[in-house]
Amino acid sequence: MYLYNSATHKKEQFRTHTPGRVEMYTCGPTVYHFAHIGNLRSYIMEDVLEKFLRYEGYGVNRVMNITDVGHLASDADTGEDKMLKGAKRENKSVMDIAKFYTDAFFSDCAKLNIKTPEVVQPATGLVDEFIQVVSSLIDKGFAYVAGGNVYFDTSRLGRYYVFNDHDEDDLAVGVRDGVEEDANKRNKNDFVLWFTKSKFEDQALKWDSPWGVGYPGWHIECSCISMKFNGEYLDLHCGGVDNAFPHHTNETAQSEAYLGHPWCRQWFHVHHLNTNSGKMSKSKGEFLTVSLLEEKGYDPLAYRFFCLQSHYRKGLVFSWENLDNAAGAYGKLIRRIAALDPGQGTADPAVLGQYREKFLELVGNDLNTSMGVTCLYDVLKAPVDDAAKLAVLADFDTVLSLSLLERAAALREKEAAQAKTAAASGGFTVQGEGDPAVDALVLQRADAKKSKNFAEADRIRDELKAQGIEITDVPGGAVWKRV
Ligand code: AMP
Ligand code: ZN
Repeated sequence: MYLYNSATHKKEQFRTHTPGRVEMYTCGPTVYHFAHIGNLRSYIMEDVLEKFLRYEGYGVNRVMNITDVGHLASDADTGEDKMLKGAKRENKSVMDIAKFYTDAFFSDCAKLNIKTPEVVQPATGLVDEFIQVVSSLIDKGFAYVAGGNVYFDTSRLGRYYVFNDHDEDDLAVGVRDGVEEDANKRNKNDFVLWFTKSKFEDQALKWDSPWGVGYPGWHIECSCISMKFNGEYLDLHCGGVDNAFPHHTNETAQSEAYLGHPWCRQWFHVHHLNTNSGKMSKSKGEFLTVSLLEEKGYDPLAYRFFCLQSHYRKGLVFSWENLDNAAGAYGKLIRRIAALDPGQGTADPAVLGQYREKFLELVGNDLNTSMGVTCLYDVLKAPVDDAAKLAVLADFDTVLSLSLLERAAALREKEAAQAKTAAASGGFTVQGEGDPAVDALVLQRADAKKSKNFAEADRIRDELKAQGIEITDVPGGAVWKRV
């Protein structure tokens, strides 16, 4: 496939260190709060990328960290510790917060059909390795101790800014707005590898180290976790675009200094989900979660569909209207698939091969997922039988993961059950929220009314009302909903 590489600013043919195998790393969530749907945009696009590489025939080893220590409010090593902030907010221990939000993250991922990586490593589980790498960086002269902390010395590098051609002064951590300068740093871009500073005395998790009791900086965890589980040569590193600087820049600096050779060949950065007031972010406190979408009646996969309709290298604006449009289109797509007859024709492998080729070419052009979605509509319109269409759709869905056939089958079943109920009730139709027990009571009430047993009809209405269910009579039937 061709993929844009943020390190070279070019779309390049994707290559790996070991032919046929991808060592892939993903920056995981900081588990001090729920993931918002912006974070999940990044994970959805990374998931499609992984699945596309598998579709192309690669074996993929995907590794993800869980940041449960060391990430301060500012990426520039200052401000409150994010995990501590979460623990204080909820009056719980840092480890309880980490466990709760890690579980919540994977439950959201499951709802969005995001596959769990082969390796998931919480930062707190690998501190001995971090200490060993930091010690080695000191031995090699790439790190120094100052004011109790250990810093990476960026002046030792031939090249520090690996992702952008920005003016150094614009990016220098020490001069960014609102970032207080750390007097211990020898160079403005130096960053913390290990903290022991008294300023962070209320830090809940601390470990003994050659430099005193303290805790790791944020960047070191990703380098160490990747080097341990992906090996010395990383093929593909993913994250949201806000991670490119300083996080990924610093990861590269310390990994290459430690290894003594180039580390990661390909960088994949997903652009942000924005609202009208800018980037959606956890720290702003106002953000949307998968649970909130569900509460409002959206299928989480409609959000996945929304994300797939646009390119990962463009900002995506979230609005309820945009989501409604995507949810409407997703619903219609499922309806069209449900109308296909699996018994019509045979799934000719030649047809599958032909569509596969097109899909590989289109989506393989810098992960063009919206073309992948267009391919679905092309299949539906194609002059081939239904069995072949279903086989091709199922094949594409191994990459897009929209549960197309499962949702279509569920819709078919629901409609068949409704038709059966309608037939059994002499044409009286019940539309509700898919609970057969409630449907049956609504029908009993209709029968009672028909035989003029109004007391029984009222009793059933009251019984449903007590369960929070409201019935509205409509011509030819009734509609019920939970209120
Ligand atoms: P965090 O939990 O803050 O460490 O972020 C988890 C992932 O979400 C990282 O890869 C971030 O770069 C990414 N991210 C953060 N905000 C957004 C956003 N608004 N849109 C897309 N990705 C984001
Ligand atoms: Zn990272």
